[in-house]
Amino acid sequence: MKAQVLHSYDPDMKQDVWVKEEEVPNPKLEKSTDVIVKIGAAGVCRTDLHIIEGVWKHIQDPDDKLLPCVMGHENAGWVEDVGSDVEGFKKGDPVILHPLISGGTCLNCRRGHDMHAADGAFPGLNIKEGGYSELLRTGVRNLIKLPTVLTPKDVAPFSDAGLTAYRVVKKATRHLLPGQSCVVIGAGGLGHIAIQCLRAMCAANIIIVEKSQTALDHAMPLGGDHGVLIDGNEIERVKELTKGNGAEAVIDFVGEHGSTKMGLDMTANAGSYYIVGYGEKIEILAVDAIISEKSIIGNLVGTWAELYELMELADKGLVKLSMQEYKLSEANKALHDLNTGQVKGRAVLVP
Ligand code: ZN
Repeated sequence: MKAQVLHSYDPDMKQDVWVKEEEVPNPKLEKSTDVIVKIGAAGVCRTDLHIIEGVWKHIQDPDDKLLPCVMGHENAGWVEDVGSDVEGFKKGDPVILHPLISGGTCLNCRRGHDMHAADGAFPGLNIKEGGYSELLRTGVRNLIKLPTVLTPKDVAPFSDAGLTAYRVVKKATRHLLPGQSCVVIGAGGLGHIAIQCLRAMCAANIIIVEKSQTALDHAMPLGGDHGVLIDGNEIERVKELTKGNGAEAVIDFVGEHGSTKMGLDMTANAGSYYIVGYGEKIEILAVDAIISEKSIIGNLVGTWAELYELMELADKGLVKLSMQEYKLSEANKALHDLNTGQVKGRAVLVP
């Protein structure tokens, strides 16, 4: 099969060619619960750029054994082959893949915390196989059959980007009441999904905070009540919109270039600051944390059940992805376009 293979890291992100199309052996069923999926689409994620850059190396590849590898952790497609113990799936079924292959028997798995599985493997991130290819091996536990109207191409980026956005919104909507406010910082790939999930799941005021006027204009019709451009007065604007209190929930999809301080400053006392994007340190004096009673909450992808819930929202047309399609052979172009900010919504590779 064809795959786009990453052979070396590029810390300066200057190389013209990051991945190379190669002929590699087809994946084989190994465990009786394995499933081979014919990839219908693979999302191209900012995490992939961070992988190329080597940001993840000390975590996922400390011994220098990962490369060459195939990236691609946001995958959907059709069942191609199933192991002897697989029930409920047959060749041709359209599926989305939860990004983590988990064993299912550790305590975290049994509690539904898939992301903290004791024995998880993350295709496209910490094993050599990923979705920038024609076929991918996964486990039956990771599959969700697409409900009724969706096709793999409609949904691939939901499996990581969408799931992350959904999970953080679900946490926030558990405490957000009508009349309260939720700030969404960053209305790009994840933000535009989060805004739609918020609109579908609660009645709080949605305030979109963005540095790009174009992105703000694109995001507002998806469910924003107020748009705030980052121009130096953004904290005052949010305070004005929230009766001087700040927002009960702030979801930060940026996490760098000063957005963590800005986000915390926009959070109301006793409110919650949800951090999703990353790149800088979150700093808060202990005494300020105590007096303000602000909670800082980390967010890591989501569970299988949450991906199922998101598919139900998508199937009802309540959450749509804005997508830019590339052929698998154009993986480099997609990655470079993402790196230079040319992608609107999410990029997907279609074999
Ligand atoms: Zn991703």
